[in-house]
Amino acid sequence: MKRPIILWFRRDLRLADHPALHAACETGRPVIPLYILDELGESLGAAPKYRLGLGIGAFSQSLEKMGSRLVLRRGRAFDVLRALIEETGARSVYWSRLYDPASVARDTETKSKLKAAGIEARSFGGHLLFEPWSVTTKDGGFYKVFSPFWKAVEPRCVDTPLPAPDRVPSPEVWPRSAQLDDWEMGKAMQRGAAVLRPYVRLGEAAALERLDHFVSDAIGQYSARRDFPAVDATSGLSENLALGEISPHRCWHSGLRALHSGKSQAQVFLKELVWREFAYHLMHHTPHILDQNWRKGWNSFPWNTEADHPNVLAWQKGLTGIPFVDAGMRELCVTGRMHNRARMIVASYLTKHLMSHWTIGKRWFEDCLIDWDPASNAMGWQWAAGCGPDAAPYFRVFNPATQLKKFDPSHDYVRRWIAEGQRSPGDEALAYFAAVPRAWKLDRMQPYPAPVVDLAEGRKLALDAYAARDF
Ligand code: FAD
Repeated sequence: MKRPIILWFRRDLRLADHPALHAACETGRPVIPLYILDELGESLGAAPKYRLGLGIGAFSQSLEKMGSRLVLRRGRAFDVLRALIEETGARSVYWSRLYDPASVARDTETKSKLKAAGIEARSFGGHLLFEPWSVTTKDGGFYKVFSPFWKAVEPRCVDTPLPAPDRVPSPEVWPRSAQLDDWEMGKAMQRGAAVLRPYVRLGEAAALERLDHFVSDAIGQYSARRDFPAVDATSGLSENLALGEISPHRCWHSGLRALHSGKSQAQVFLKELVWREFAYHLMHHTPHILDQNWRKGWNSFPWNTEADHPNVLAWQKGLTGIPFVDAGMRELCVTGRMHNRARMIVASYLTKHLMSHWTIGKRWFEDCLIDWDPASNAMGWQWAAGCGPDAAPYFRVFNPATQLKKFDPSHDYVRRWIAEGQRSPGDEALAYFAAVPRAWKLDRMQPYPAPVVDLAEGRKLALDAYAARDF
């Protein structure tokens, strides 16, 4: 009798270009796909957890179409695996590697316990183009600046995407599974879930379709248009990459083909994929990037650390009185995503004009983003605040009013998200009032607020604080 292989899925909810699944199917042994809701999954923020629940549901359906299933279990990863091994007689557990310190600690412990119990435990790549330990400087160190990192990886060969298996061999008897609905993955979203749902691009098929559409229609003008938040000019694939519904290899090769076919702006898209790699590379080598100032010199900087400071609350609610900032924060609230240009502006505004600690903003994003990614989020915040590796120079303070003139000159983006002051606001601007918690007591007829902090004053306060420090 062939002993089954347990395929422990995590942030790799796809069939195609999945090295661990490919290897498992190649053996010809029965494969038991498994998702474990453990303490790391339980502790996700509201929107990422909701999005994960949708992703698990969609992936279960994809497996069922192939005659397989996704077994759902809840509990400590090793305990769940041990119980399933006893029930099914499985002799192997395969998974795709993750790189955040909490997952690494769990996986390392799980692997050694499985091996000690005589079970084959194998981890595979797939979440990244390059394993973080495989990119080193000449002296064996790691890159702290993006440009040389890009130069080092650009000429490398990226693995060609693997096909989806023709079939996933089933066990003779399926082990029992929990019901996804019982996990209530969207519980913390309250009424925001219904508003956000139409914006979700769910599952592998939708991600692949979007990639094809982006590469045929938009990649040729990517670098010229990607900074304009009112324009649908970027791939929008971050939520799918975050949950592994599409592989970065697939995106890379599609971008590369476009580049070779003469669409020179595709190179900037490839660079953005490498920014994601860079974030993971930094998280691997300096895990403190997740929750501490990457540059220690910032530890005594006088940030506001009160998460319930009135200015911070105004920022979270999209009520700062600064249109570009408020539009971004409302887009986040309604859609669970935010255009990259807006992310940079709202993060700069919170950490510079409002002098509030970047971890406050990082945590808010962790709760609200459906494309939440531990590495990219932390790097983005530290970049904007000025305390991270290869950060925006801390003394350069984005002016949201100038940014608006440059990147939203006809105010389409601001009008799309801010209803106040418009005679007939669009559905998306109004959706914000349906998405926010009732406790915020927001009313569509309220006047648009005056700035909580005057832009010139906020800038001066930040610059004075920087001048008083020696970074
Ligand atoms: P595209 O422009 O189509 O780019 C393609 C892919 O490249 C993206 O899907 C993404 O995977 C990667 N990418 C693009 N820009 C970046 C970047 N600056 N850093 C890292 N990877 C990048 N991205 C996340 O995926 N999750 C996050 O939690 C996240 N938090 C952020 C927080 C802040 C403060 C900032 C400034 C940026 C953050 N980003 C995050 C990066 C970036 O804003 C998003 O990846 C991008 O907006 C996603 O849109 P897209 O898929 O259309 O990107």
